[in-house]
Amino acid sequence: MSPVILRLALPSPLRRLFDYLPPAGVPAALQPGMRLRVPFGRREIIGILVELTTHSEVPADKLRPALQLLDRQPPLPASLFKLSLWAAQYYQHSLGDTFAWALPTLLRQGEPAETRIERIWHVSPGAQLDDPRLSRAPRQLEALRALSQHPHGVPQALLERLQLNRDSLKLLLDKGLIHIEERRQAPAERHGAWLAQAELPLNDEQRRAFEAVRAGFGQFHCALLAGVTGSGKTEVYLQLIRETLEAGKQALVLIPEINLGPQTLERFARRFNARIVLLHSALTDRERLDAWLAARDGAADIVIGTRSALFTPLKNPGLIIVDEEHDASYKQQEGLRYHARDLAAVRARLENIPLLLGSATPALESLHNAQSGRYALLRLNQRAGHAQPPRFIRLDIKSLPLDSGISGPLQQAIRQTLEAGQQVLVFLNRRGFAPTLLCHDCGWMSQCPRCDARMTYHQRSRELRCHHCDHRERPPAQCPKCNHLDLRPVGAGTERAEERLSTLFPDTEVLRIDRDSTSRKGSMDRLFQRIQHGEPCILIGTQMLAKGHHFPRVTLVAVLDADGGLFSADFRASERMAQQIIQVAGRAGRAEMPGKVVVQTHLADHPLLVQLTEQGYFAFAEQALSERRGAGLPPFAHLALLRADAHQPGQAEAFLDHACSLAEQMRDELKLETVELLGPVPAPMERRAGRHRAQLLLQAGNRATLHRLLTPWLQALEQLPGSRSVRWSIDVDPLDLF
Ligand code: ADP
Ligand code: ZN
Ligand code: ZN
Repeated sequence: MSPVILRLALPSPLRRLFDYLPPAGVPAALQPGMRLRVPFGRREIIGILVELTTHSEVPADKLRPALQLLDRQPPLPASLFKLSLWAAQYYQHSLGDTFAWALPTLLRQGEPAETRIERIWHVSPGAQLDDPRLSRAPRQLEALRALSQHPHGVPQALLERLQLNRDSLKLLLDKGLIHIEERRQAPAERHGAWLAQAELPLNDEQRRAFEAVRAGFGQFHCALLAGVTGSGKTEVYLQLIRETLEAGKQALVLIPEINLGPQTLERFARRFNARIVLLHSALTDRERLDAWLAARDGAADIVIGTRSALFTPLKNPGLIIVDEEHDASYKQQEGLRYHARDLAAVRARLENIPLLLGSATPALESLHNAQSGRYALLRLNQRAGHAQPPRFIRLDIKSLPLDSGISGPLQQAIRQTLEAGQQVLVFLNRRGFAPTLLCHDCGWMSQCPRCDARMTYHQRSRELRCHHCDHRERPPAQCPKCNHLDLRPVGAGTERAEERLSTLFPDTEVLRIDRDSTSRKGSMDRLFQRIQHGEPCILIGTQMLAKGHHFPRVTLVAVLDADGGLFSADFRASERMAQQIIQVAGRAGRAEMPGKVVVQTHLADHPLLVQLTEQGYFAFAEQALSERRGAGLPPFAHLALLRADAHQPGQAEAFLDHACSLAEQMRDELKLETVELLGPVPAPMERRAGRHRAQLLLQAGNRATLHRLLTPWLQALEQLPGSRSVRWSIDVDPLDLF
């Protein structure tokens, strides 16, 4: 009989599996999904068993045995194992690396995939303090005496605190006077009813949405909850989760931004008497693994987290919710370039459970899926409770003087709001003081030495910073080109607007919320506490402010600059701009007081802006979808982007030229004429972080056709000469075309 051969996925960028013989002395109980330690070159690494076979391309004398089997059970449930296979195939990524994104770090390093074992130190039955063996060992006697004060034993972690000397303990152990009990950490128990707080009675729209999703419990289906900001989507989620818990199942909730985590957690924890885990970036590897295991073993009822939480295994999955499903943060931009919303749909199908996507500004892709019947469309058109929709004012700033980006009429509106004792939110999606530094004499501008981009002037830290490669330098005292001294910051970022607003409104607190002001741990929480306190204040911030927050005292929202999205080369720019404006506007008037949104623009009559502000997001989206259909753009076409970069100019293009000819050739052989190849072209930002970048776009009307080409093509690309001297990656369904 031919020997069993193990085919493993290894943490390698190569899109292939690796063959090994079983480790010595391992019974035949090997199952796909188990981890094995294997030799790889001169290193040892950990791989995942994908399949067992009897045939290998590798000559028998070259096959090496695996060293050690690490699991008695596959650590991933079957559904997540399949999800990883699906993701690797769909996103054209190495399977080994896909598993690496799906598994917690400690599991990749070989840690047991089981809850921690606690070690508890006890005095052995019959041990006596006057044991003759201790007569000349005062420290051991001391340790034994200390331990005997604890009839239930002392957990390992407390040994230090009790100042128990390890050497003495070891000697006592050898004498059999004490022993260690090993105990698996028992999962936290839960008692009583699920609800810790009464539910709000749902309004008619909410009830219809709720019933529609509940009717689908226990089977796969996708619903898009398209509800205007403040329409009570979260309340619908909460009641569906209660149903899920009552059915003895777990819920997984994805949120776009971890800054929203504490707020979401608090709202959920107030509502439920349930074991909730929040997966966030500040967790240690051990904490992350513990949370992962709790979810997998059914010791957590609700899991909340950002993008990567989609890979959290659940023992009894009941419902997946993706909140703010339009948010770009669900797309991973490196390594495995997956979209968590799209993978959530695949996972829901594998688990046979419903998926609920929610947003006030659904992605055009999702709306299209709803229109074509793939998702159920559930609309909430009214704000919940007594809140009114905010009123929009397009403020034409053509020929109006701007003071750090703030016009006179806007200043007035801010003043009135503050005088009425309410709060103001100013939105400007640009960090720093000014987007560039300009020499007034010769026109020199602060260019990044490593990118085709300008460096932003940050006044607080007195530096020029490139937001693309994070290059930092001191601003020059004089112009590097003409030596004149008249260097001026041009344009306004949040720092400058903050400074100006503080001067204009000296008696009012101005709170800046952007990546710079919230980088320190806890600073975001402190800022939010000040806002919730309710005193009149001005919030100035980037899109961080626009996402999901509930600020009951904000009645005026000001968008300082709406024009960027109206004339960008990126076909998604207008969709993003519309989502941003509506989301940030949605922070206004969420409680009893009505809200107002002032949009400063030079293009007050732009049809897109008029439609958005007068008829709302769904009218805009209809229009945008029909334009996409006309232009043959996503979601009416499917894209894949091959990006490459290299140190030398021209190298990336040369590689892409090769890749392109190869694709043309394969396209003809496989009769896939409908796949279009666009490029290669230099990337819109040709040089970034010192590397020269180029790209090749593939487009097809049919997803399956595109994939029929992608799979063999990428296999072949790995073999291309030159594929090692450039850095390249494939992005299936890219969000950004650069
Ligand atoms: P969304 O998630 O759509 O932005 P929320 O669920 O946060 O909306 O609800 C917005 C506000 O309306 C919250 O203060 C919430 O308590 C309130 N609310 C939601 N549903 C109801 C309801 N059925 N009756 C009264 N108030 C509600
Ligand atoms: Zn100059
Ligand atoms: Zn740079």
